[in-house]
Amino acid sequence: MSVIGGSETCGPKIILRSIKGINKSEEVLITYTDLLQPKVMRQSELWSKYRFSCCCKRCRAMPTTYMDHCLQEILILNLDCSNMASGDNFYENHVMEKLMDCLNDAINDFLSFNNPKNCCEKLEILLTQDHANILLKPDGEQLHQLFRLHPLHHVSLHAYMTLASAYQVSVGELLALDPEGDEHQTKAFNMSRKSAAYSLLLAGATQHLLESESSLIVPVSNFWMTAGETLLSFVRRSAWNLFSRGWHIEDFSFSSCQICGKCTLLDRFRDKFTDFHYENAEFADVTSQFLSCVTDITPKIWGFLREEDGYLKVVEDPINFRWLGSRMATHATSPNASEKTGSGLEAEDNHNEIRVKLFLLGIHCLIYGAFLSTVCFGPNSQLMSKVESLLSVKGTLNG
Ligand SMILES: [Zn+2]
Ligand SMILES: [Zn+2]
Repeated sequence: MSVIGGSETCGPKIILRSIKGINKSEEVLITYTDLLQPKVMRQSELWSKYRFSCCCKRCRAMPTTYMDHCLQEILILNLDCSNMASGDNFYENHVMEKLMDCLNDAINDFLSFNNPKNCCEKLEILLTQDHANILLKPDGEQLHQLFRLHPLHHVSLHAYMTLASAYQVSVGELLALDPEGDEHQTKAFNMSRKSAAYSLLLAGATQHLLESESSLIVPVSNFWMTAGETLLSFVRRSAWNLFSRGWHIEDFSFSSCQICGKCTLLDRFRDKFTDFHYENAEFADVTSQFLSCVTDITPKIWGFLREEDGYLKVVEDPINFRWLGSRMATHATSPNASEKTGSGLEAEDNHNEIRVKLFLLGIHCLIYGAFLSTVCFGPNSQLMSKVESLLSVKGTLNG
């Protein structure tokens, strides 16, 4: 639910918008906390700030909802301790504190010490490395545990969010130092690529969670928007010319790109989603068209986006998380034994093709983000106008 204020003639006015149908006499709830936190953190925040325990459906669920399960899931790598993996609050809280300390330390480097590079290095380590933890159980027994973050853990999600923005800021700083040098151009290109990859991963991961928790719609709308913007800013990097000699940036015309012929997203966007009367069927249709297009494009560009070493190598697909169950369990101790799908694309033609696909993907992300924002804030949402201006600049609306 969202609240919009303002009216010129009648004084202050609040409009309440429901993100889903409300049945007669159904209780209507609003959000007080960051919904990407697991239950224990939400509950503790609500208690310390507002002195109440939330009894909403998600908080009451027993066993915990799929989303809350993912948000606090860690992978225990040494089997002796695997029976401690879930349901042990003492253990979970201990590990959670440790992980939050690492995350906050890295974010602090970025925001307080203006050092995005250090922040990125720390977060890549936090996500990639196996963490050792010596645990003294209440009965005095010592347990040595080796664990790794789950890709949908709330610390992972916040790390993706921070990495996407820290890499982006690093690009700006690097180019401010030396806008022309080839070496800086290449470095900036790789950081811009990582920023795009992490913002896509963040949007894909939270979209996956949105399927079971509709209240995430506001952050997910923003994440798709950011993914779209970051992808388009990566597509515009002039360092692409270093890969494709003789095919310069001015030859790459956005209006010459075939806008997706497989879905009706752009047409619906042009009509401001006016057919859309907040009916579930319409929502499901736009979402399934969007997901069908992006799950089609993503495998063709993901190998390129995650080409650098680092955590992204572990992520087989940033949109479709079917790989999670099997792979995380079986390959838990060998993150580098990753498969080769789609990587190693060196030829110029491939780079040009990838660039066009990244552009298409970016447009889809922007439009879907705008669509979700109309569900939350109505057809005149700010994000909607922002995407309109972004797309008209690129000639896609007039094409
Ligand atoms: Zn609740
Ligand atoms: Zn499409």
